[in-house]
Amino acid sequence: MRAEALKSGEERSHRSELEHLFLGEGSREGFGVFRKVSAVQTTLSGYDGGVVTSLLIKGMKRNFFDSAIVVRRGNNKKNEAVIAEDPDDIISAKGSKYELLPIPEKFVEAVQERGKKRIAVVGLPCQIFGLREIQRSMPDVDLTAIGLFCMENFRYYLLKKRIKDLLHVDLDTVERAVISKGNFIVSDRGKTVSCRVKDLITAVRTGCLFCTDFTSELADISVGMVGSPDGYSTVIVRTQKGEELFNLLKDRDSTSADNGEIARMVSRKDKHGIDQLRKYLSLFWDADER
Ligand SMILES: Cc1cc2nc3c(=O)[nH]c(=O)nc-3n(C[C@H](O)[C@H](O)[C@H](O)COP(=O)(O)OP(=O)(O)OC[C@H]3O[C@@H](n4cnc5c(N)ncnc54)[C@H](O)[C@@H]3O)c2cc1C
Repeated sequence: MRAEALKSGEERSHRSELEHLFLGEGSREGFGVFRKVSAVQTTLSGYDGGVVTSLLIKGMKRNFFDSAIVVRRGNNKKNEAVIAEDPDDIISAKGSKYELLPIPEKFVEAVQERGKKRIAVVGLPCQIFGLREIQRSMPDVDLTAIGLFCMENFRYYLLKKRIKDLLHVDLDTVERAVISKGNFIVSDRGKTVSCRVKDLITAVRTGCLFCTDFTSELADISVGMVGSPDGYSTVIVRTQKGEELFNLLKDRDSTSADNGEIARMVSRKDKHGIDQLRKYLSLFWDADER
């Protein structure tokens, strides 16, 4: 179905339809509709600039939303999607976790079982796509979608095994794991070890190989690190809601982001996704072409 949708242009037209519904008009670059792009650092330290955590805390304190769907490492060292209802919950979720968690499902639980109506969600591009689809059938829910940039995600148990083989550390117990400039870097008790992300390809989720959205194009505001100096986050403000939330960050230090670098990563992911789909589904594709 995915192949058919991509091949016939349906996938892009579907994304455009959702974009039109939820983002409205705006300037457009390779990374989608936007109002403003900048490199930002806040006084909070997160994965990069702590921007996502700061946006959530400020937004909750100013009553933009009363709950947020975030991912934190639980007491059993397993990552989990949770409904955060106060700033402490939000802070406990800072940092990137290289695993796909049930974010859209938590959002539905927050609405249907907890009666939440004003919710912020942090999600990867595929999750924001799914959320917008769900949002169509929940017109009375006020959703603030904060999207992350994402080149690929992993099957955690395969990633853990691969990291153990390559770097001889247990991913469950390390203090910090980050992807930066094509390297997977693990820090633990003063020691840092790393490997190339391309050496982790066997742990990448199959669906990610075909994905063509790098910057969460359907979010109200997207955050990543590509395009920013170290310690800063790249922020793409896409909607009025995203702009109002961004304006709450009074303590931010901003500089210009490298739009060209973002656009290059966008087209690299787009081309890679289409090429992979052609390669893996060549039989299906070729048969149809004959
Ligand atoms: C799997 C993955 C792949 C990424 N790939 C890239 C990339 O290729 N290039 C790039 O520029 N940026 C990438 N990012 C984004 C980058 O790692 C940072 O998340 C982003 O720069 C925000 O930094 P911050 O300091 O503002 O976030 P923080 O203030 O530290 O907050 C991080 C927020 O992200 C949420 N979160 C963490 N892990 C997940 C997850 N698995 N699913 C959903 N939400 C989550 C947390 O709940 C938290 O609210 C990726 C992130 C993830 C999770």
